[in-house]
Amino acid sequence: MILARHYAGFCSGVKRAWKLATEEAISASGPVYLSGKLIHNTPAMDELKRKGVRVRTISEAEGLQPGTPFILRAHGEGPEVYARARALGLKLIDGTCPIVRSVQQRAQKLEGQGYQVVLFGHKGHPEAKATIAHTMNGVIIESAAEAAKLPRYPKIATVAQTTSSAAEYAEVRRILKERCDEFVDQGHICDFTQRAQDEAAELAQQVDAMVVVGGTDSSNTRRLVEVCTVLCPTHHVETAEELQPSWFQEASRVGVTAGASTRDSDIAAAVEWLDHISDA
Ligand code: SF4
Repeated sequence: MILARHYAGFCSGVKRAWKLATEEAISASGPVYLSGKLIHNTPAMDELKRKGVRVRTISEAEGLQPGTPFILRAHGEGPEVYARARALGLKLIDGTCPIVRSVQQRAQKLEGQGYQVVLFGHKGHPEAKATIAHTMNGVIIESAAEAAKLPRYPKIATVAQTTSSAAEYAEVRRILKERCDEFVDQGHICDFTQRAQDEAAELAQQVDAMVVVGGTDSSNTRRLVEVCTVLCPTHHVETAEELQPSWFQEASRVGVTAGASTRDSDIAAAVEWLDHISDA
C-alpha cells in the first residue's frame, strides 16, 4: 500500500481555519459559532461540534450576545456577512483562506476597473458564491459550453474557484478571450489542489486500486476521485468504516490519497485498515 504523502490531507487554508476555531473554542467561555461548514467533511465537523464549535449562518445569528466569537469559514463569505456580524457586535474572526481572500479582492478590484467578472466554478459552492458576492455584477459559469453562450463584453476578467480543474479553466479562458476586446485572467487554482491532483494521478498509475478519503460534498476530494478513476478502480470514502474487503480482492498494490479537508486521523485509519487486510 502506498500513501500520497505530500498533498494528502489538510491544506494550509484548512489548517489555519481549524486552528482558529479550535483555539477559540478552548479560550472562549461559551460556544463559538461558524458562519457555515468550515470544511466539507462530516467527521471533521462532528469533531468541531464536540469541541464546542457550532454552525450558525449570519441570518441565524440575530440572537447571539455581542462579543460572541463568530468565525468566517475557509471558503469565505460575502461583504454583507462581515457587515451584519459587525452590526451585531460579534467577535468576528476571519477564517477565510488567504488565497480565497485574495481572489475575492482581485474580483472586486477588476470590476471597479470596468471588467465583467466571470468566475469559473460551481454555482452552488460557498466559495464561488462568496467571491461573486464581493462584486456587483459578476457571474458564475460552470463549463466551457456556458462560456460560449455569454454575451460579448468590452472587457472580461476571469477568476476561478480555487479548486477548479486547470484544464477546464484554460478552455474557458480560451473561449472568453474571443468574446471581448480586452481580456485579463486573475484566476488562482490553488497549487495545493493541483499538486494533489498531479500526485494522485502519478500514484494511480502505479497501483491496482486507489482509495480517496474525504468528504462526499468536498469539491477537491471529488476532483481527486475523477482524476484517479480514469487510471484505475477508485473508491471514495469519508471514513475507514466504509471500506469493503471485496474492493481489493484483485489488488496487490493500493494507493491512498485524501482531500484537503480530511483529518490526518481519517487517513491513518484508512491506511491501517488496508494494512490489516493485506496482512490477513
Ligand atoms: S485548497 Fe488551497 S485555496 Fe482552498 S482552502 Fe486550501 S489552501 Fe486555500
